[in-house]
Amino acid sequence: MIAAPDFVFACHRCGLCCRAGHGRVWVEAEDLPALAEACGESEASFTARRVLVDEGRLSLRERADGCCTLLEDGNQCRAYEARPAQCRSFPYWPEILSGGAALDAAAGMCPGIQRIPERALAENVLPRAATLILKASVAPTQPDARGERWLCSLEADLELAGWLPPSGRHGGLDQTARRQLENLAAATGYPWSTGPATRFFAERAAGWQALRGGAPRLASDPQE
Ligand code: SF4
Ligand code: SF4
Repeated sequence: MIAAPDFVFACHRCGLCCRAGHGRVWVEAEDLPALAEACGESEASFTARRVLVDEGRLSLRERADGCCTLLEDGNQCRAYEARPAQCRSFPYWPEILSGGAALDAAAGMCPGIQRIPERALAENVLPRAATLILKASVAPTQPDARGERWLCSLEADLELAGWLPPSGRHGGLDQTARRQLENLAAATGYPWSTGPATRFFAERAAGWQALRGGAPRLASDPQE
């Protein structure tokens, strides 16, 4: 059985964790003055409008759609510098750090969590991913609204291992190939994540370096 992979993290400021379903954002009474000040509200008004008590603890309220009361348009936290410890410490919560289902759930929600697989898993899966990619039809990926091309973890790791040319030069995978890679990741337990190419790729390269001492080199690199 493969041990829970380590992860590296860099926040994309996407706001998903501030609007992902319903939950509690716990606050302490001593947090309230700074939160209220950051919002330009009196402490009494802030508490009345934005805080509730659940099982004896204070929590920020959420809107009907599950968004935190402090999340503004553009995914900005209205009180970012004063945000509660729960928000500051994500994803370095003990249950997430211990791996398993909590890490799976966090990594499934948060695109800033990059799970770096064990080297043995990468060396087993990357040649199969390379076979899929080499057979795939490649078409320029439509960039997102910010003009970014997106990568998945398998594409990024293939590039880091030297099986694909540097990011941006190999175009993008068509939907069928992307789905095949996703299925391969699901079938093998290879940690799946996606992100905008430039930032995601740099974070992933740094993660490989920090956690595994560098990207895997495959025995039969087709470019050598
Ligand atoms: S979901 Fe992750 S990447 Fe997005 S804002 Fe929250 S912590 Fe940052
Ligand atoms: S307090 Fe700010 S960082 Fe925390 S969940 Fe609410 S909007 Fe997000």
